[in-house]
Amino acid sequence: MVASSVLGFPRIGGNREVKKAVEAYWAGKISADELTKVAADVKKTSWASVKAHGVDYIPSGDFSLYDHVLDHSAAFNVIPKRYVGLELSALDVYFAMGRGRQTENVDVPASEMKKWFDSNYHFVVPELSEETEFKLNFNKAVEEFNEAKAAGILTRPVVLGPISYLVLSKAAKDAKPDFQPISLLPRLIPVYKQLLSDLKSAGAEWVQVDEPVLVLDSAAALDKQFTAAYSDLVTIAPKIMLTTYFGRLDSNIAFVSKLPVAGLHIDLDRAPAQLVEVVEALKPTEMVVSLGVVSGRNIWKTDIAAAIKLGQTAIEALGQERVVVATSSSLLHTPVTLASEKKLTAEQKDWFAFALEKAEEVAVIAAVLSGSQDAKVTAALEKNGQSIAKRRRFESTSDDAVRKRVASITPEMLHRKSPFATRQEAQQKHLNLPKFPTTTIGSFPQTKEIRAARAKFTKGQLTQEEYEDFIKKEIDLVVKFQEEVGLDLLVHGEPERNDMVQYFGELLEGFVFTQNGWVQSYGSRYVRPPIIVSDVSRPVPMTVKWSAYAQSVTGKPMKGMLTGPVTILNWSFPRADVTRELQSKQLALALRDEVIDLEKAGIHAIQVDEPAIREGLPLRRVDWDGYLKWAVDSFKLATAGVSDTLQTHSHFCYSDFDDIFPSIQRLDADVISIEASKSDMKLLHTFKQYGYSNQIGPGVYDIHSPRVPPRPEIEERLKAMLAILPSSLIFVNPDCGLKTRGWKETEASLVNLVSAAKWARENY
Ligand code: GLN
Ligand code: ZN
Repeated sequence: MVASSVLGFPRIGGNREVKKAVEAYWAGKISADELTKVAADVKKTSWASVKAHGVDYIPSGDFSLYDHVLDHSAAFNVIPKRYVGLELSALDVYFAMGRGRQTENVDVPASEMKKWFDSNYHFVVPELSEETEFKLNFNKAVEEFNEAKAAGILTRPVVLGPISYLVLSKAAKDAKPDFQPISLLPRLIPVYKQLLSDLKSAGAEWVQVDEPVLVLDSAAALDKQFTAAYSDLVTIAPKIMLTTYFGRLDSNIAFVSKLPVAGLHIDLDRAPAQLVEVVEALKPTEMVVSLGVVSGRNIWKTDIAAAIKLGQTAIEALGQERVVVATSSSLLHTPVTLASEKKLTAEQKDWFAFALEKAEEVAVIAAVLSGSQDAKVTAALEKNGQSIAKRRRFESTSDDAVRKRVASITPEMLHRKSPFATRQEAQQKHLNLPKFPTTTIGSFPQTKEIRAARAKFTKGQLTQEEYEDFIKKEIDLVVKFQEEVGLDLLVHGEPERNDMVQYFGELLEGFVFTQNGWVQSYGSRYVRPPIIVSDVSRPVPMTVKWSAYAQSVTGKPMKGMLTGPVTILNWSFPRADVTRELQSKQLALALRDEVIDLEKAGIHAIQVDEPAIREGLPLRRVDWDGYLKWAVDSFKLATAGVSDTLQTHSHFCYSDFDDIFPSIQRLDADVISIEASKSDMKLLHTFKQYGYSNQIGPGVYDIHSPRVPPRPEIEERLKAMLAILPSSLIFVNPDCGLKTRGWKETEASLVNLVSAAKWARENY
């Protein structure tokens, strides 16, 4: 028998119950017990429905109220000093670590967040030092295993492995300069031993231990640590399914196949070619191989016939008992179910599979591979074959005008007319910005009123004209606010945007949208990624009307605001039938037209956000150059069609640029704003080291938390920046858009920001 498994399930609830409950708890509207109850219901529903779809190995312990890495930190007592002794409950300390906390007596910033590998999920980065004292504060894996067991469901618990946990951690501020988190492995292992042996005592037969760092180049140097850790853990643990995802093991398979674990999971969605090599390496062992054939990262129906072929290859070498069919990764990155989509056409619906449908796919594939003659299985297999054939027929049609335009892109289209120094002079004549110019990243608070007006408009309760009047009034407010606060380069506030990617997707050809396809981005923040289904083009201007209006109501310069091609691509579910490069270039051409139209409409500064450029980077270094070439070219294609007088801006959040800096330079944006408030300015050294000469706005405060940065704190940050960069390069801005913030903290924060900039003008 070939078993089936799901590596993790969305933890947001079918109707975003978890978001609603967590936010209600933060607002003091429900108690901790009520929150726990909502979470318990969501978990129970997920376990039961995965089981009902016929899956053998059902995950538990992967649920989280904020982030699974943060869950491990809280459990392991990895609680930075600033959160200790605040007289908060354990739950409130947990949330304070995730999002900061500012009340009458407490004022602590959030921990740093980072992108989870190449996904748009963010995890909270653990902070370690020589002084870290690991201990098991609680055992969430056991608790949730028992919770499921009480509901009659035997699960395979999921934990993040010790090596990945340490590799994803950073050195705390007070750590010694040469401190390496991985050096704490010998101290962390006893905690894992306790965690895993408790799981075994609780009755878990298997445990899924995630070691996604095994698909990174850096894992090659950790073979000794892996061997030491797992040789120790297997002595007390349930059977370990060592789990890798998002990429290929490559040469790491040499030591991984020698680890004494009971099973190995590989991602065959991202890296199908590794199958043969992995199976060969496992032959002489007794390990089970888990084949990640159903994508945990996209929403396309699995080609079951193709997956079966992969399964057969493994079975021929290892036998049925040693093969498991699985999702490629956790399904955390996919929406819960297609069943709640009422607006997709029948044709479109037939192309997709969301988490629950994927659970069914793994079960069907496993059943076929086990030789099942069950009528339901046969029918499902046949139906899948028909759906795949229909989608292939659709894919064979294309928009020839778009394809031709991409084919005729010339090198000149990728370059601005003059070098930066010439452009800067031309731009300054139009913009007239002071030293330390202040600006924001684009969005202003998306208030209840804005969301309500949009909802009414979508439902047809507001006419186009009424809605547009409403948006104009919002723009008026935001512009007036910025003038009063004293900002220099204004924005229109993005009130018309439901989301920075969805908004564009809705106006472009080639996308479809879900009604309920939410995916967690971080904490209680979920996004609803659009789906690219065919060639992309721009039938009409998308933002010109709003930016031109905003410019018409102020004498100060207005910054146009677009989302870049690479970010739209990375934050959508892309097509699987053509390359990401082709999709990115199509998007770039559409945006190029928009940028040119904005300039024609009298806008002199345009920001094209590319926060996702880093996260889209392939996980293996050998694949970087290819990606960076087309990603940077796409940005340039979008932004280089204008005259020298136009100041181009770009914005990046959470970007570790050290290793790709030449590509950031090659973007040649006149100004870039970056997240710097939480990453301790380390990025700025890189700018300096490379002699970066265009302008930079390193975020002076963290907008991911409601905390108001006191003015002296912003001044300190500016001082720290000025110690590294010349004053002429610096823009003063928050580290990201303000859409998730309330007006109260936004006003207080920006007042402090502007006065800190004034202080800098007087002192530098
Ligand atoms: N312009 C966008 C905003 O302000 C940028 C958001 C982002 O980078 N994530 O909302
Ligand atoms: Zn940002």
